[in-house]
Amino acid sequence: MNYTIAVIPGDGIGPDIVEQAKLVLDKIGEKYGHTFDYTEVLAGGAAIDAVGEPLPEATIKVCKESDSVLLGAVGGPKWDHLGGDQRPEKALLGLRSALGLFANIRPATMFKQLRDACPLKEEIIGDDGLDLVVVRELTGGIYFGKRGRDHGPNGEEAYDTMMYSVDEVKRIAKVAFDIAMKRNKKVTSIDKANVLENSRLWRAVVEEVAKDYKEVTVEHLYVDNGAMQLVINPKQFDVILTGNMFGDILSDEASMITGSIGMLPSASLGESKLGMYEPIHGSAPDIAGMDKANPIATITSLAMMLRYSFDLEEEALAIEKAVEEVLEDGYRTGDIMSKGMTLVGTKEMGRLIVGKL
Ligand code: NAD
Repeated sequence: MNYTIAVIPGDGIGPDIVEQAKLVLDKIGEKYGHTFDYTEVLAGGAAIDAVGEPLPEATIKVCKESDSVLLGAVGGPKWDHLGGDQRPEKALLGLRSALGLFANIRPATMFKQLRDACPLKEEIIGDDGLDLVVVRELTGGIYFGKRGRDHGPNGEEAYDTMMYSVDEVKRIAKVAFDIAMKRNKKVTSIDKANVLENSRLWRAVVEEVAKDYKEVTVEHLYVDNGAMQLVINPKQFDVILTGNMFGDILSDEASMITGSIGMLPSASLGESKLGMYEPIHGSAPDIAGMDKANPIATITSLAMMLRYSFDLEEEALAIEKAVEEVLEDGYRTGDIMSKGMTLVGTKEMGRLIVGKL
């Protein structure tokens, strides 16, 4: 098969890590008989420098016409003085909305070889690492509801409104259940239904959607309990389904349990197969161009692309296995380095992973 991929290296370490990810994908193509055609496009600071805006129309067009989008990272101190709409990060929100990406998928996978980096006690994590996925609604809820300021009896006040429609909850719930079907068939929906009317609607809709997925076990947790359960018993989770704000907080909490920001991939999905895949970390300007960045989060983002956009499960697993083998051999970039391991740079880490495929 032939797949077209819009590639946005972006800023900082973006170009360093994307280069390695492309080498990995080329190797997958060679081994499994696919071709991946890349079209490199501008976004973020690189686009501001070249054409004066963070998300040029031409970039949106290429992304829409491609089978999928791979993004490194955007932003950096060079553009920090710019205001709101002109900032590099604006490109991310703009792309999500232009491509209709309403579901953010963030696996929190801890390779057993990196157990030392986990801040939780050994008896909580056990011997076999951690593997859960947070499915966060991305384009609704309190971040997009009506907001404003007013003058009340106590002086100035401000409000933000949390709003979800039945259809918005339905479509994100389906994403979570579909992912659970490919994993351990358990969905934990996290809300605040003891207080929020919005959450009561959320819960009822999730129950409705669950009827179409008889094999999947469904649980509901209040967000305060969910945050606590993530640190006292994270292994109970398979797929966590939640709204925009709770997901923002819980996905960061879940990723910190794994201990390393340079290891974690993410995907943003919509109604179609087109998705945007990117590491969860930023552009790390402090190590840009120094051959120090860990390319693994970007490389495992590609595994997600193969799995969710192209339905190439075997190829996705091959990438994840190659990463695990390189870690098992003791190779580490600076961010995940520990005593007795072998320190390697971005390029060498990429080469080692390609070598395992
Ligand atoms: P960051 O994730 O870029 O860096 C935080 C720390 O982690 C730094 O010390 C960095 O060196 C390290 N780090 C991050 N990724 C690494 C990797 N792959 N390998 C090794 N070390 C790594 O976060 P920040 O410093 O808060 O932000 C820097 C810039 O990135 C800002 O302009 C911010 O707005 C932007 N940003 C972009 C995205 C995105 O593009 N999706 C996300 C977050 C932040």
